[in-house]
Amino acid sequence: MNIFREVELRAASKPKKISKVDWGDPVEVAFHLREMRHKERTTILDELVPRRICPSCERIRINSSSWVVNKEKTEAICKSCYRRRIPDKDLDKTSKLDCKLFVEMKIRYRVSAIEISRARAKINISVNEFARQAGWSAAYQYKLEDGSVLTVTSEVAETILEVFLRLGFYTKDVL
Ligand SMILES: [Zn+2]
Repeated sequence: MNIFREVELRAASKPKKISKVDWGDPVEVAFHLREMRHKERTTILDELVPRRICPSCERIRINSSSWVVNKEKTEAICKSCYRRRIPDKDLDKTSKLDCKLFVEMKIRYRVSAIEISRARAKINISVNEFARQAGWSAAYQYKLEDGSVLTVTSEVAETILEVFLRLGFYTKDVL
């Protein structure tokens, strides 16, 4: 079995807190270390960008791996902004390989159709208007709200949160 798959399965089956780590089990140790790193990262991000809004581009990034924190841990910006900051001279030292290694590497978020529907109704915005603001069809918005769409990419999740934010609201998805 692929080790990452196994780590994933364990992550799903284990209770959130590991009280005892079996240090002799490499899979368990890898899982524990990953969890610790994630926790530390989340704590830093909660402090620097509690609402997960990038100070540079003002877009929402809900996935903690979409962030870059500086060494002093005083600043966090999203990865796209970070990439834009790399000076050209550094890029000049690199040469491009004519291949693409990952076709799709997207985290998917499980949708709560009823919560999206309720939240949209709560702020008095129609399905059509919400869809227009999000930049997709009303048909897709209906699917998001009737449970036909089970999971979305982080881009779609962030767009939904950004529409709410533009209208002056944020949810528990961002602190
Ligand atoms: Zn940014």
